[in-house]
Amino acid sequence: MSVRKYDSGELVMGRWPGSCLYYEVQIVTFDVPTQLYTVRYKDGTELELKENDIKHAAAFRSKKRSVSPSRRRSRSRSRSPGRARSPARTPKNALQPPSQIRDLTKGDILQIHLTPLKLHEYKVGKRNGEPEGIEKNVASQRITQLKVEQEMENNNEKVLRYIFNPRKEDSITKGILKEEIAKEKIVKEKAVENRKVLEFGGTIGVSFMILAQPVLLYYLLLVCVQKDASIFNFHSGLTVSDLWNTTVFGVFLLWIFLQALFYLLPLGKITDGVPLVNGKRLKYRINGFHALLLTAAAVAVTLYCKISLLYVFENYLQFAASATLFSILLSIYLYARSLKAPNNELSLGGSSGHVIYSFFMGRELNPRIGKFDLKYFTELRPGLIGWVLINLIMLLAEMKMQNRGVPSVSMILVNSFQLLYVAHAFWNEEAVLTSMDIVHDGFGFMLAFGNLVWVPFTYTLQTFYLVNHQVDISWTVASAIIALNTLGYVIFRAANNQKNAFRKNPDDPRLAYLKTIPTSGGKKLLVSGWWGFVRHPNYLGDLIMAVAWCLPCGFNHILPYFYGVFLTCLLIHREARDEHQCKIKYGLDWEKYCQRVPYRILPYIY
Ligand code: NDP
Repeated sequence: MSVRKYDSGELVMGRWPGSCLYYEVQIVTFDVPTQLYTVRYKDGTELELKENDIKHAAAFRSKKRSVSPSRRRSRSRSRSPGRARSPARTPKNALQPPSQIRDLTKGDILQIHLTPLKLHEYKVGKRNGEPEGIEKNVASQRITQLKVEQEMENNNEKVLRYIFNPRKEDSITKGILKEEIAKEKIVKEKAVENRKVLEFGGTIGVSFMILAQPVLLYYLLLVCVQKDASIFNFHSGLTVSDLWNTTVFGVFLLWIFLQALFYLLPLGKITDGVPLVNGKRLKYRINGFHALLLTAAAVAVTLYCKISLLYVFENYLQFAASATLFSILLSIYLYARSLKAPNNELSLGGSSGHVIYSFFMGRELNPRIGKFDLKYFTELRPGLIGWVLINLIMLLAEMKMQNRGVPSVSMILVNSFQLLYVAHAFWNEEAVLTSMDIVHDGFGFMLAFGNLVWVPFTYTLQTFYLVNHQVDISWTVASAIIALNTLGYVIFRAANNQKNAFRKNPDDPRLAYLKTIPTSGGKKLLVSGWWGFVRHPNYLGDLIMAVAWCLPCGFNHILPYFYGVFLTCLLIHREARDEHQCKIKYGLDWEKYCQRVPYRILPYIY
């Protein structure tokens, strides 16, 4: 980390954005994570500058003398930000149509002739309505103006048109800015080109994952039941009958049908999904929390009727095998039906032309049978509710296997933490509608196996481990673990809530204190609050919680820490995928965001 070069209060020369001119400024603050100085110009304008854009005043003294007086006069009159503050500096009136406004980029007065034709809301109206809280990023406003002009030229559309009669200096500035636009175009073209690059190592990578994931799952489960659960101490006398039981498969199907029934119940509200690439907006019924409560009621009835839930524990491997077979059959069905799907309903990854790759990534984006959305149902219901149900079964199994009157503290902690997480997901179910899985990924083996097998059978590894390995922790240790989980949960929840609320209503007065930067597509990006701390604060919270979920299993074996290791890899990879998508969506604006918020997940480290 570099040391700051200029102190607060120091008078230096700062470069005016978008130009090669320097003015006297005072250093206000220095932000260590972004390495940006906040500087104040003589007229009170505050901007953030990089160290490279700041120089000591002494460096200019000799140059100043060499400038001819006439030239110096003309500059000081026309360019100096020390002159009265321009009304056009607030984004509110940045594109308002006065007969003349001050060009923010350099402080010149520009003539603007308006030829009012048809007002295009997306390109012009929206910017006029931006709230006061928006950061006054003058250079980007100017770029956006130029982009609007350029887009209008490209599309030859009849929209409200601003015609600038620039001075000579303006055309220089315009040249610089046009260069930026060209740069942005290259970034976007590169991103579109990258889109064609296959993810997960292409066909070879996904073939490996299709085979390796089930093998890894059974390996983990088999090691977990051994007395010595060391990962290199693996003995398996596994036979087919250990893996397959038709009755178990029947019970598993019953579970899927029960959840499908709850999904179809006319409970909860119906909401719109985000607009898809084909312009359609699908409707979704939000009743996951109802399904969770109904499942809890069904479990209570089962226990009341003295039907032993331990059947699941006793046939655990067979249940995992049933879920695997079901997910494979579902993936084959999804692939087959996708061959008849119209092109505009296919996902980007799924329409690659490679059969195995498409089978893994999923071709169809939102396959439905009538109103039954197969992906949305699989994403949340059988697997997620199955996860907490299996945890409960493991709690009962621990009491039986270890002859306990009450479950262990470790078991209670893991059950409670994970139940809170799942209940939170259902309580905020609508947030899933904007997730990468729903909006971007097709429905294929990756999501089918991931949601139906991987989540319920590997995320429960800690409770499965605790059944077979007695761990007793003190209440002091338990309190520390609870504090850690609370910290993770607060970060996770606050970050997700902040973004979801902002995406729902960017003008929400409760979020007015947050700084944002505009993007050329019209959406804004948060650059303060949680999303100004790191670029994925929600992942940070998730990872802290993951540690808290593993710690109750003690330190005898590494196996129960599998979830923490897996989630770290998953979220690092997911962050890279999301970053890639955001580069496509936001181009240079995303790069600006990355400069402002340089760390991805963990401040100062990653
Ligand atoms: P995120 O909730 O992190 O959303 C990423 C999107 O947010 C971006 O594509 C962008 O979309 C928007 N965004 C990014 N930066 C900003 C910003 N500065 N201002 C405004 N919007 C921004 O995506 P995920 O679906 O990956 O994660 C959702 C949650 O699920 C997370 O909490 C994650 O931890 C959790 N998760 C858990 C997993 C598990 O197995 N336990 C697995 C995967 C996720 P746009 O601009 O288009 O709105």
